Amino acid sequence: MRDKQTIDARHLEAGQSFAWRGQVYFVLGKRPYQRQDARWTNLMGFGSWCATCGEWFEFSVSARARTAWLNRRCAVHKSPGRKVPHARRIFD
Ligand SMILES: [Zn+2]
Repeated sequence: MRDKQTIDARHLEAGQSFAWRGQVYFVLGKRPYQRQDARWTNLMGFGSWCATCGEWFEFSVSARARTAWLNRRCAVHKSPGRKVPHARRIFD
């Protein structure tokens, strides 16, 4: 697997699943989201199992973004400062 693997969120569809750096993610689908400036955008929802506890968790990224982050841990174990065996970014 290449170091800089890109997963373009715009090409993902609900129901798809994919593996990224040994972790399996499911695409939950798009949903509208109202930003703080009151404009509407779409979020792409993902689900996976926490790399620490194995619990299911869900998160969203902008559906139009070419760069985004795939979370590897649930909200409880998310720790931005801690090194993960592989980078959490899906785009560079
Ligand atoms: Zn966890």
